[in-house]
Amino acid sequence: MKEQTLYICEYCNERYGDKASALTCELSHPIPIGIAELYFKPRSKYPKGLKVQFADGQSEIYFAVVSSKNLRDIINTVIKV
Ligand SMILES: [Zn+2]
Repeated sequence: MKEQTLYICEYCNERYGDKASALTCELSHPIPIGIAELYFKPRSKYPKGLKVQFADGQSEIYFAVVSSKNLRDIINTVIKV
């Protein structure tokens, strides 16, 4: 019987057969450093979206999980294109 050791990235849960690859994967994930913007739908208590700033200078916009029916309405409401 052979035994196998797995190394799992703490951020994305990808599995690797060697520690160096798992560590490289962990170090490849930028760390969030703050919320740059909040997006509210009119009269909503909580934001429906937010822009997260990462340590590498990039930012990403995330939206709350909603039904596909009203997702487009929320996106159109909070983002003025
Ligand atoms: Zn990873």
